[in-house]
Amino acid sequence: MFNALVVEKDEDGKTSASVQRISEADLPEAEVTVAVEYSTVNYKDGLCIGPGGGLVRNYPHVPGIDFAGTVETSSDARYKPGDKVVLTGWRVGEAHWGGYSQKARVRADWLVPLPQGLSTRQAMAVGTAGFTAMLAVMALEDHGLKPGHGEVLVTGAAGGVGSVAVAILAALGHDVAAVTGRPETEAYLRDLGATRIVPREELAETVKRPLESETWTGCVDAVGGAMLARVLGQMKYGASVAAVGLAGGAGLPATVVPFLLRGVNLLGIDSVMQPYANRLRAWERIARDLPMDKLEAMIQPATLADLPELGAEILRGQVRGRVVVDVN
Ligand code: NDP
Repeated sequence: MFNALVVEKDEDGKTSASVQRISEADLPEAEVTVAVEYSTVNYKDGLCIGPGGGLVRNYPHVPGIDFAGTVETSSDARYKPGDKVVLTGWRVGEAHWGGYSQKARVRADWLVPLPQGLSTRQAMAVGTAGFTAMLAVMALEDHGLKPGHGEVLVTGAAGGVGSVAVAILAALGHDVAAVTGRPETEAYLRDLGATRIVPREELAETVKRPLESETWTGCVDAVGGAMLARVLGQMKYGASVAAVGLAGGAGLPATVVPFLLRGVNLLGIDSVMQPYANRLRAWERIARDLPMDKLEAMIQPATLADLPELGAEILRGQVRGRVVVDVN
């Protein structure tokens, strides 16, 4: 028997999450059983710990969209007992039981080997949020982003995706402007490498003019909604925005003018179904380009019992940086 955070749904459709003792027989069928060491808290986890947001199919459910740990048993030749592994995406923690458990059973295709140079704790300090931030930076680079050509904007900067994006971009030599609604995070963001703090209010109003002055040479956007629409009109000629998140809304009240008159690119970033080769490339880049002292500064430690409260906090936009959950 071992501990897991189990979400149950009552007859009225109300969900509740609690730490419970479960057994290996309760785990879903799949090739690889992993002794989980660390998991984390992403925005989606907040939804799945709570009412589900339409992501969870069946109850009882064990959330946790990512984890890192050690293989215990494997019927797939790619993994053997003792191997250190990381999992993000593939709808684990949503459609399939996830990482808020001392053991998880998953498909071998969904795993990647723990990247060289990272511990399981560091891998989960990065987690889905940081992995996605790296995918966003890689997409911007693939579309021509280079240091020394102006400021790169990061929205939702004090959140998980934003914090890692700020640290990576700064370490790569970019000038980073960080948008935050929490002025008290200014020192934190500057320590991660932000050179300018942009108050959220400055970008909160909906688009009045489709083009504003050309300001940003790239953008990692975790917010979406009206803010993304404003940012599109402020991009420099030919620059790109990597659209990662919807913390500020799923709508896009924009015009197509920035695309037509400034050749601005809007790049979609998905971490969930990302092909294996690109996953390896992103984790290698993380191990190389994300300074580990900056990562350490983002960490808030937690246990399984803290998750119901942390899930609610991330939905309210109140979590700073990255939560690392020690499931043991
Ligand atoms: P966090 O809650 O850690 O960060 C989101 C940040 O956005 C907050 O910290 C806050 O930053 C800002 N924010 C929150 N609400 C608003 C609002 N109403 N208006 C403007 N800004 C707001 O979440 P994550 O970093 O884990 O995820 C960010 C987004 O990215 C989520 O929407 C998530 O679903 C998405 N995501 C997408 C992935 C993909 O594969 N495409 C993978 C991972 C995440 P501040 O206080 O600094 O303003």
